[in-house]
Amino acid sequence: MSAPFATAVGTAAAVRLGERTARQVVEEVLARVGVREGEIHAFNTVLAGDARAAADALDQRIARGEDPGPLAGVPVALKDNLCTRGVPTTCSSRILEGWKPPYDATVVERLAGAGAVVVGKTNLDEFAMGSSTENSAFGPTRNPLDTTRVPGGSSGGSAAAVAAGFAPLALGSDTGGSIRQPAAFCGVVGVKPTYGAVSRYGLVAFASSLDQIGPFAATVADAALLLEVIAGHDPMDSTSNPGPAAPISARLGDGVEGLRVGIVRELVKGVDADVEARVREAADALAGAGAKVDEVSLPTVVHGLAAYYLIAPAEASSNLARYDGVRYGLRVDGTDVAAMNAATRGAGFGAEVKRRIMLGTYALSAGYYDAYYGQAQRVRTLIIRDFDAAYEDFDVLVSPTAPTTAFTLGAKTSDPLAMYMSDVCTIPSNLAGHPAMTLPYGTGDDGLPVGVQVMAPALGEPVMFRVAAVLEASRG
Ligand code: GLN
Repeated sequence: MSAPFATAVGTAAAVRLGERTARQVVEEVLARVGVREGEIHAFNTVLAGDARAAADALDQRIARGEDPGPLAGVPVALKDNLCTRGVPTTCSSRILEGWKPPYDATVVERLAGAGAVVVGKTNLDEFAMGSSTENSAFGPTRNPLDTTRVPGGSSGGSAAAVAAGFAPLALGSDTGGSIRQPAAFCGVVGVKPTYGAVSRYGLVAFASSLDQIGPFAATVADAALLLEVIAGHDPMDSTSNPGPAAPISARLGDGVEGLRVGIVRELVKGVDADVEARVREAADALAGAGAKVDEVSLPTVVHGLAAYYLIAPAEASSNLARYDGVRYGLRVDGTDVAAMNAATRGAGFGAEVKRRIMLGTYALSAGYYDAYYGQAQRVRTLIIRDFDAAYEDFDVLVSPTAPTTAFTLGAKTSDPLAMYMSDVCTIPSNLAGHPAMTLPYGTGDDGLPVGVQVMAPALGEPVMFRVAAVLEASRG
């Protein structure tokens, strides 16, 4: 696939060789932001001044003969639930109004250390709860490929930023599909790494046992480069994997000869016919490249959505208890502390966040805990066992990323269950903690991109990326 805009790999190489300055690269993307951001609304904050200053500093270092790193001068957009020191981090919620984190997330530090230039903070569904970016307190983001359509969510701003050429790279977070589903809707690559592969320090928590930070990019190689920069152990995150992260880029060209690829029957069934057709074509392409392709059944994944909508709200109800009007952002006064807490939370949270807090509080309440939360955790274990069994016979699994292409703005806002169904194919990998990625594979009947999902067992990023690279190349 040839990207419509300069790739991260190409940009970093040109900047390191002195063929382009980091400042020129930044001006180019800011010019695109100037033309289209008004209609797309990918960003909550555009950091034009900071980006120019960072680019100039990089250019001075290069002029002195220093190597600024593998992402030299590459613009990056950050989902606005990643902490940035001194820069508003809103989670697209009123409740964080005026809050500026006193520290950078580990991924933000690593980007700076690699020479990347942050161009802005991107819009999201409030606290990453949603599948369309319509739950943002600051208004929706629109899909750059068709502005009557949603970009997906919750990382819709990051997906749209890459698709619109506002930055070749972006970071998002994926709790149930929030990187992969918007990437699929916007026709870009999106990766949810293995749980623990990327530090969550400085990611505002939604559901801590599911949340992972990951890359958006226009190409598989660009996504690999970004993941290599942000992955690796971090003592600041107690769930961070020990040991060094496996190299991905070096193995990208190894092909799929002899690899065993399983097409997940339960995740192909029931998706739109045009989406299924693209997945079948992807399977044929892998077979043509020498992989052994077969169907595989994971019977319990059909219960993933139900388990997720107990576990994720349960964890969210606990994580979001910290927004009390005392420690962060908004405060609405009341006659006593409890009244102040209630008034602040009533005014600060949007409808979907309140719905999740109520669902989660109910699921965790005495008397219901075992029937709901406990049962969901048992289903989670069964799903992990189904994956384990499948990975005895297969190296990777393939499915659609989402059941449909990008839908129209407003189409699902009044029906939460229909919205939740967007994540039926992506949630199982979050529940298992496994890596999964999407890449664009042709278009649906409406001309909009279809995403194909490649899943791998824990720490299987190298083989997952190899498969994605073959699929990308097969589209020409
Ligand atoms: N759309 C799913 C939800 O609303 C997933 C969100 C996410 O991955 N952050 O929970």
